[in-house]
Amino acid sequence: MWTVTRRDFLRAGAAAAVGFGLKAAVGLAQAPAGQRPRRDEGVEVLNPQGRVPLSFFIDDSTCLVNMGHFCMPQFAEALPQREIYKKPWKTWPREIPDAFVREFGEWCAGHGIKGKYSVVPYPACVGWLDRELPGWSRRELLDSLKLVRELMVPNWDIHPEMISHTRVIDIATGRPLAEISSATMENSYPQTKKSVDELAAYLAYALRILKNCDLPCEGITTPGGFGNLVKSELSLAVGEAVRDVYAAELPHYFKYVSGSNESTEPKLEHVAGMETDDPRVVVNVPAGTGDWFGGWDGDREPEGDRYANRDAGSGRMVEMIERGEPAVMLCHWPGLYNQGAKTGFAAFQRVALALEARYGDRTIWMKISEIARYWAAKELTRIERSAGGVALAAPFASPRFTLRIAARGGAPPKLSHEGGPIPVREVTRLLDLKPGTWLREQEGIVVCFDLPKGRTLLTV
Ligand SMILES: [Zn+2]
Repeated sequence: MWTVTRRDFLRAGAAAAVGFGLKAAVGLAQAPAGQRPRRDEGVEVLNPQGRVPLSFFIDDSTCLVNMGHFCMPQFAEALPQREIYKKPWKTWPREIPDAFVREFGEWCAGHGIKGKYSVVPYPACVGWLDRELPGWSRRELLDSLKLVRELMVPNWDIHPEMISHTRVIDIATGRPLAEISSATMENSYPQTKKSVDELAAYLAYALRILKNCDLPCEGITTPGGFGNLVKSELSLAVGEAVRDVYAAELPHYFKYVSGSNESTEPKLEHVAGMETDDPRVVVNVPAGTGDWFGGWDGDREPEGDRYANRDAGSGRMVEMIERGEPAVMLCHWPGLYNQGAKTGFAAFQRVALALEARYGDRTIWMKISEIARYWAAKELTRIERSAGGVALAAPFASPRFTLRIAARGGAPPKLSHEGGPIPVREVTRLLDLKPGTWLREQEGIVVCFDLPKGRTLLTV
């Protein structure tokens, strides 16, 4: 049985909705939720493997181009009244070198850190990553893309952050629109209503460039306030564009930041067709922090303690972990490099090590697509309880699916999918839980397994 729910449409306060450089507050998300499945009592979907997901979303990254240096004069031209765009950008390095990508990527891989890494496809109109990047040799561009594919892709979802992250591009000609104003900057585009198809065409244009670069992609990041006027349409457009260009099953996007009183759980939007063989959903995965490293232009003094202090006793990441909801930290790539000083990166390392020391056995780093997939399975799997057990109907598969089932007796559960058994062995501590295990509790059991798409039966 399926019901249709519709999240209340918030009347977005104009003042809050039109920030130029900032992500929107998650409370202003406006896409309808769509269908939700039947969920019987006595079964609860827990966090993956019983651990709190952690993730690191990096904005404004691309190949070689330092977006701090190249964006600043374009932002200054479009918004001449803004003092924040009158910084000495000419003295800043034009490049964030691949040596830094390697240093960062290898350190993160060594600590199991995962997240989202933007690759702006036509960064600040400097050049096309699938064609030519003026200022760098062909070899340097190809090597840079290869480094992203080999080092970053295994642990980071790649997103376009629209086409240029500065000027709006006429996708019929590939040129920036002639007028220069806030209306023709991607950060504040569009300023009139656009249809889902128009938005999807713009997103698909960005996605195709990354596809030409052999980069995989299942989602997009919005630059600043992109799409604030068309939030529901944008969500649908993400679904259309990502499915169209990459044939991805489960499109997602990053646009919103949850405030300290808001949930950081992903929002499943425009859910439809759950009872068909073509289930559709777009997953809106918010971050939960501001950028407290070096900022988008990379010249701020990092304040790493705002994420987590040295013993992870305080900070926004600590708050989210304690609440048991996804703890997603956000920053901008130039703010880790800091024009070569790398003070943001050093601050990030301290935060990551503090979280690892205090919460390493209660948390799990995940890519944004892994969080999106887990939440699609968590909220969209139909759960029917009967005397003998639990029947699951999953429109989407997900690794590490973890259920708490109220049950007497504590006999070992039996799992099967389309007649074949899914073996599970008993563990005695929550922190030993991983796919293929179960745990006895006072009031029932916890089971963790890789949930396949389709019907799974649990006998308890
Ligand atoms: Zn950005």
